[in-house]
Amino acid sequence: MPFPSQAAAATDPPFPGIDRRRGTRGAWAWRQVLRRGTLGLLLLAALALTAGWSFHHLEQNRLALDAAAGRATAQRMLVSRIAALSAETPPNLAGIAAATIRLSATLDQAPANPDDRPLRDFLAAAETLGDPAPLHALALGPLSQVLDDAVAETAATAAAAQARMARQHALLIAGMLVAFLLVLLVVMRPLARHVAALAARLDREARRDPLTGLLSRRAISADLARRMAAGEPVAVMIVDLDWFKEANEAEGHAGGDALLQAAAARIRTTVRQDDAVGRVGGDEFVAVLSGVRDHTDAETIAQRLCEALHRPVPFAGRPLRMGATLGIALSPGDAATPELLLRAADDALLRAKRAGRGGYSRATPADTARIERDASILRAMGSCTGDLPGLDAHLQPIVSLADPGRVLCFEALARWTARGLGAISPGEFLPVAQRIGQLPWLGGQVRRAALAAFARLRAEGLPAPLLAFNLSAAEIMRGDVVEAIVRDVEAAGLSLACIEIEITEEILLERVSTRTIDQLAALRGRGARLALDDFGTGNSGLAQLLRLPLDKVKLDRTFIRGLGHDHRAEEVVRATMSLAGSLGIEVVAEGVETEAQAVALRALGCNAAQGFLYARPMPLAALQTWLRARGAPSVVPLRAIQRAI
Ligand code: C2E
Ligand code: CA
Ligand code: CA
Repeated sequence: MPFPSQAAAATDPPFPGIDRRRGTRGAWAWRQVLRRGTLGLLLLAALALTAGWSFHHLEQNRLALDAAAGRATAQRMLVSRIAALSAETPPNLAGIAAATIRLSATLDQAPANPDDRPLRDFLAAAETLGDPAPLHALALGPLSQVLDDAVAETAATAAAAQARMARQHALLIAGMLVAFLLVLLVVMRPLARHVAALAARLDREARRDPLTGLLSRRAISADLARRMAAGEPVAVMIVDLDWFKEANEAEGHAGGDALLQAAAARIRTTVRQDDAVGRVGGDEFVAVLSGVRDHTDAETIAQRLCEALHRPVPFAGRPLRMGATLGIALSPGDAATPELLLRAADDALLRAKRAGRGGYSRATPADTARIERDASILRAMGSCTGDLPGLDAHLQPIVSLADPGRVLCFEALARWTARGLGAISPGEFLPVAQRIGQLPWLGGQVRRAALAAFARLRAEGLPAPLLAFNLSAAEIMRGDVVEAIVRDVEAAGLSLACIEIEITEEILLERVSTRTIDQLAALRGRGARLALDDFGTGNSGLAQLLRLPLDKVKLDRTFIRGLGHDHRAEEVVRATMSLAGSLGIEVVAEGVETEAQAVALRALGCNAAQGFLYARPMPLAALQTWLRARGAPSVVPLRAIQRAI
């Protein structure tokens, strides 16, 4: 029995988007619907016109009949009146004359009507009126009969016309109903069928990757969610192809496509039929394997996949190199929700990639804990617009090593206490902020808080020579950061001369434009100082770092930690001191925690230090107390001197 997705894939063309046959059929169906729709509408319009014309015609008829009936009645009444007047003794000649004139008027209005003949005869006789005798001689009785007949006939004609009109009405309504049904049958039904087919096709296409026939990202997520909801043990494997970019570059898109199709087929045949396989990105696939309960089983399958995907793919008579790196995560165990499970597998993939191409790695409990923590941080951060509540700047003093009582600078460090989560370290929340593009905003908020605290220290006459803050690559890449810094510094009533900007090597790497470097240099030109942070951790040499005019380098704490027992660390510090000295750049030692480290640094010629030995980062109130408790700013703590000797 074929795997359901394979069976569907077999009936699906590989490129539904450009399937000519289906495209033509679709267009044909639309044309049919349009043609029938137009016909139906024309039919309805014709019926409506006929109905209008017929109603008009019938109304005219009805009015004419009403008029005729009215006239006949009036004539009948006048004749009766003449008869009554002429029956008087002596006959009322004046009255007969007046009634006769009115009768004549009603007749003149009337169209020629044979039924009016007796009336006309009567009138001709009446004209010779002089003696009433002839009137008596006139046959009023038969004349009245004729008039009665005329009135009755007119009424009958009117009734017949009404009945005809009602029949025509009924016919028209029936016709319109039939036309409406025809439109429904001929237009609406195929239209509804066509729309349903279109929706089904779109849905199928959204569920399938057109190139490989595998499930789409949405469909594989839904499949995973369904299996997890049913409580099935599942393994998720994210497969990342190793040589896809190279195949694309060397052979064009056709080469890349061939690699993807071969990879899809091999993954599909390596796993079981009821496992789901999808393509979720350029060269990234996901396999959801049911019934895999432990990492040993998962790793056996991962090994099989790696082997299957390491065979070259024939393309245009040449073999294309192929390989894959995998990340594995299991449910239950590694994550509670499908999204977190996919992320755990993704993190495992990253670790596998770092170890080199072609291997696999599995999610660890630490990954899971971090991912879940990140998710809650993301939720806490994502729901806020504007300033992040609970975000503040703490200041950590940097002191003179020769005179540790003398504060040289304060470094502003972000601190966040999130509602429901407590205090979160910058190492945790800054990467999340970076991921969602919030880092520049948070950086600005920390900077403004630090500037306000620093201005306050100065206003109170406490020693506050310099304020340093960290500038991330994300902030600097925005391009408007220099103006933002100038604005914030001026708004705090400070000048750029008391500001130091700490940047890392990352900023000096190629992806930062020369324009940014120029901007930083311009900022320095306006009085701000530039410091290179975490020095020694990156891969670039000092020469490359000197693309930017620097005032300070901050030796990373990994070297300080090694002082006294790691000869290599001592050599790095010595070399840095010598190079920086020759370039006129200050050196600050970071993370100084012991007196022994301070002594070693002094011996190596280092003049400034930052570390828990002297002070931790503090909020404004604690810093004010700390500074005041020290009294005279330049008094060296006795303990420090005793240990140093
Ligand atoms: P960083 O710039 O190297 O900051 C110094 C870090 O070392 C701080 O960690 C500080 O608390 C810690 N530290 C200071 N003295 C000692 C010591 O004696 N021992 C040890 N073990 N650690 C010490 P924190 O505050 O956790 O900040 C971590 C990193 O987060 C910072 O490293 C910086 O890269 C980044 N960061 C902090 N605040 C901001 C900010 O507002 N903006 C940006 N862009 N990055 C920030
Ligand atoms: Ca720093
Ligand atoms: Ca640092």
